[in-house]
Amino acid sequence: MEIAPPHAAVDAWTSADSEALYRLGAWGEGYVAATDDGHIAVRPDPEGPAIDLHAVVEELVGQGVRLPLVVRFQDLLATRVKLLNESFRTAVAESGYGNGYTGVYPVKVNQLREVVDEIVEAGKPYGYGLECGSKTELIATLPHLEDDETLLLVNGYKDSEMLRLITTFQKLGRQVLPIVEKTTELRRIRELAGEAGVDPQFGVRVKLSTVAEGMWQTSSGDLSKFGVALPELVDAVDELIAAGQTKALRLLHFHIGSQIGDVQAIKSAVRELTRIYAHLTRRGLEIEYLDCGGGLGVNYDALPLGGGRGGVDYTMQEYANAIVYAVQEVCEAENVPPPRIVTENGRAITAHHSVLVVDTLGRTEKPTVADGFELPAGSHEVAQSLFEMIASVEAAAGLGELLEVYYDAIDVREKAHALFGYGYLPLDQKALAERLFWTVCSRLYVRVEAAGPDWVPDELVRLGDALTDQLLCDFSVFQSLMDHWALGQRFPIVPVDRLDQRPTRRARLVDLTYDSDGKVARFVNGGKEKRALEVHDVPEGETYRLGVFLVGAYQDILGDAHNLFGGVSEAHVYVDDEEPTGYYIEEILKGTSVEEMLARVQYFPTGLQQRVQKTLRQKSKSGTIRPKEAQTILEQYRAFFASTTYLDPH
Ligand code: PLP
Repeated sequence: MEIAPPHAAVDAWTSADSEALYRLGAWGEGYVAATDDGHIAVRPDPEGPAIDLHAVVEELVGQGVRLPLVVRFQDLLATRVKLLNESFRTAVAESGYGNGYTGVYPVKVNQLREVVDEIVEAGKPYGYGLECGSKTELIATLPHLEDDETLLLVNGYKDSEMLRLITTFQKLGRQVLPIVEKTTELRRIRELAGEAGVDPQFGVRVKLSTVAEGMWQTSSGDLSKFGVALPELVDAVDELIAAGQTKALRLLHFHIGSQIGDVQAIKSAVRELTRIYAHLTRRGLEIEYLDCGGGLGVNYDALPLGGGRGGVDYTMQEYANAIVYAVQEVCEAENVPPPRIVTENGRAITAHHSVLVVDTLGRTEKPTVADGFELPAGSHEVAQSLFEMIASVEAAAGLGELLEVYYDAIDVREKAHALFGYGYLPLDQKALAERLFWTVCSRLYVRVEAAGPDWVPDELVRLGDALTDQLLCDFSVFQSLMDHWALGQRFPIVPVDRLDQRPTRRARLVDLTYDSDGKVARFVNGGKEKRALEVHDVPEGETYRLGVFLVGAYQDILGDAHNLFGGVSEAHVYVDDEEPTGYYIEEILKGTSVEEMLARVQYFPTGLQQRVQKTLRQKSKSGTIRPKEAQTILEQYRAFFASTTYLDPH
């Protein structure tokens, strides 16, 4: 769909206009900007140099890397780890809090080794630890503890084998704490510790009454599948006290959900857990840590601060202040020593560091007639009527008259459909009527938009959707943007270059999967509904790439292989002032090949190629092809096994 043409006086377009249009300032947090020459640039440290994403992609494509591609700005991980830890240090110092802060990174948010390594390295000065939530994650994270001080928290359900391994590492002196999700685990931990001849050590996830609104609200409250309910906790504590194991429960934990929009919910949960801590402390337990889980949100929706659902109403510093002051307040009121505060933030650490770059493969738009079109002599009367409506659109005085023309056009289109059904309208006239109908609609819609009414009827909203172009993109929503498909999560999407040019079309994105769900039709807009993205009118054959931002949390691992589209290529980029480009690319990982994807569903090259060979033999025997041709066809088929699962844009 064409975007309403602007008034001539404001027609000039600069990168600053694109920054405003795509709301870079709101969601980019200073990490993303548009350069004067219209490229997207990423600044891993908002005070430091910028890396031109367009240049990075061009370089990678020049080296033969195929899109779609995830570009990881590794330095951004360190920036986020530092920001979080410094925010808590500031909160502790300014409040005069009587203890300290330890963060842990929950690896489920992004388990990629290079991501975890980067986070661990950046976190060393702060004693930043890790959190895992499954057997496999435990096996991956245990070796990452390099000293006897760093925490590894083990959330999720655990079997005896896992608990035994944890106990073994505890015996070695490592700070591995299983977080009890149900009381049977607690009993098992105490038994295993007894067998190993060590004191039991664990944390407990408490099922709080506080519930945070949002997509993950069942992470707490009565519907939560995790955590120990208060009555069970009280019974378990009685048992510990009776056994003299007052040091066994080292940590109390809650997690009320991810992407918490309202800082008040965090404060309420912190206060609730601190009250529990205070009571248990007074009963004689020596609890060291108060773990406030994750939930620190990311401003995906580019809302202004305080902007409501989908965004976050607090900064990272305000988040840290909220927790530290809430714990302090309750501990002072209850007259108990303040515990060390722990948080398990994942999304806010990793979301910003990676960008998915996709090629576009062409645009489909509603068929219309060109300006100055003349109706051929002998056209059917339905075409004649619709043709005349084009002039009526130009002449209409306001929204009311435009709507009248719209309803007339719908009537005539229905008539054309009926006539065609009864055999009275030839195919070419039906096609002409369709073309004229969409011409009337698109001109009418442009006029409605240009008038900028505060409100438009639903019919016109639906018309807007129907007129929206479809931009075919070389990726799979199921593989790369699972949270968009599953939860309607919006991600900021911005062209990688041409930002110094006015985008003149509006499109929804459709992916390669053969599934009508494989699309992106909801876009970031400061919390308001936006069903199409502004894109450039790129001549066929020219490259046009889109960057999907804030995809560093959860998206990599949630992706699935619908239609056998596989993992995308990846590049890890670092800032380097000494390089003329200002960056260097440390690592390139190839996307999954067709052969690898096929193996996942038990197809292997030998068997498949033998079948093709059999057909080719038959065809050459019957004379359909010559034996040499058969060989070429086989080679052509074989070559696909090494290729990526995505398309070649050229
Ligand atoms: N801790 C636990 C127990 C979780 O379940 C989660 C994710 O939902 C996190 C931490 C990470 O949360 P977030 O990514 O919102 O920081």
